[in-house]
Amino acid sequence: MKKLALHWKILIGMISGIIFGFILNSIDGGKDIVTNWVKPFGTIFINLLKLIAVPLILASLIKGISELKDISKIKQMGLRTMIIYMTTTLVAIIIGLGIVNFVKPGVGMQKATIEKIKQKYENSSGVVDKLTKATAQNNTTPLQALVDIFPSNIFEALANASMLQIIFYAIFIGICLLLIPEDKAKPLMLFFDSLNEVVMKMVDLIMLFAPYAVFALLANVIVSFNDVEILIKLLAYAFCVVSGLVLMIGFYLILISFYTKKSPIWFLNQISPAQLLAFSTSSSAATLPVTMERVEEHLGVDKEVSGFVLPVGATINMDGTSLYQAIAAVFIMQVIWPEGLTFSNQLTIVATALLASIGSAAVPSAGMVMLVVVLESIGFPADLLPIGLALIFAVDRPLDMCRTTVNVTGDATVSMLIAKSLNKLKTPQPKEWNDNYKK
Ligand code: ASP
Repeated sequence: MKKLALHWKILIGMISGIIFGFILNSIDGGKDIVTNWVKPFGTIFINLLKLIAVPLILASLIKGISELKDISKIKQMGLRTMIIYMTTTLVAIIIGLGIVNFVKPGVGMQKATIEKIKQKYENSSGVVDKLTKATAQNNTTPLQALVDIFPSNIFEALANASMLQIIFYAIFIGICLLLIPEDKAKPLMLFFDSLNEVVMKMVDLIMLFAPYAVFALLANVIVSFNDVEILIKLLAYAFCVVSGLVLMIGFYLILISFYTKKSPIWFLNQISPAQLLAFSTSSSAATLPVTMERVEEHLGVDKEVSGFVLPVGATINMDGTSLYQAIAAVFIMQVIWPEGLTFSNQLTIVATALLASIGSAAVPSAGMVMLVVVLESIGFPADLLPIGLALIFAVDRPLDMCRTTVNVTGDATVSMLIAKSLNKLKTPQPKEWNDNYKK
């Protein structure tokens, strides 16, 4: 019998998790059962993925760079990656602004609904937490983001999983390996090559557990959600975000098909396990090891491209997040600050949503923290900020799941484009967890 493809297994796990969540939600004490006995399996899975992300980035990037043979290629790849990342993010923001201005989901929202949402969320811990984090983010100097790329202690960077610092260090080691005599470079290169293989195998093994883990994660999402009534009131807003995200996926598929001449269906089939995990975990950082495995082994992107483009992308390229930030900012203005809806403010949103998505961490709900920064950049009244966040808080989790899926798809798309442009797109060679396992 033909084996069921991984993405189908994950999908079955997700759907069963959703059904299980609904059933337990309707039973007395069901929510506690999910929280205490089911959710931990999802947490274990996310922990395992995070556990391997750092060694994987380090090993694959050092291996990739040290095999480049030509340092100028690094510059070429870096420049192209940045330009394409910026361009796709700009497209995302423009799509978002186009939709929200056309549909106008916030115009005419009933006073009673606004009041209800305000009372429920304005002082909730979730909203207060986002505002506190946004204030901390704001209290930095202009060049701090640049300074933060350079670690003073690599062990601290590794322990904190500071992606950009680790990427910088790995490139630094990779370049130096190119500059020392080959016989001296060889042992370290072999070491990282071997480490890279081991961590990739860990991804294969962890993925065997994925269908069960997404069951646990989604069952937990369902029992944690108790705002169905408000969700219905925010349907027009959620519709704008989701349709913008769908358009963005369409845009990626057009790029893939025109530039790499690969079939979009094939691309989606290969990358779908990473997309489904992004949806289930709401974190591009946690999904990164799987994205790397899919892109290298199933899409055929060379390690030296994926090792650089994907970790950088997970950190700074968030097209789904920026699209969401543009729509959310205008939606909030339509509801509680219509006088702020000027053309120049929307232009400012384009610039700040671009920077905000770069600054957003690749973890659940980070996009909402940076939304505060976007709103502040257009002079949004400070006293209205908690109400603004309260307005969109109820639907943030489902939208976070969707935008994270787009963030991950965007990174995979760009890695394909860069690989193609550098002639680094090969015939994929997928590996199974037991390829070398001798009974
Ligand atoms: N959860 C998103 C990610 O990890 C970031 C966000 O939009 O909140 O990509």
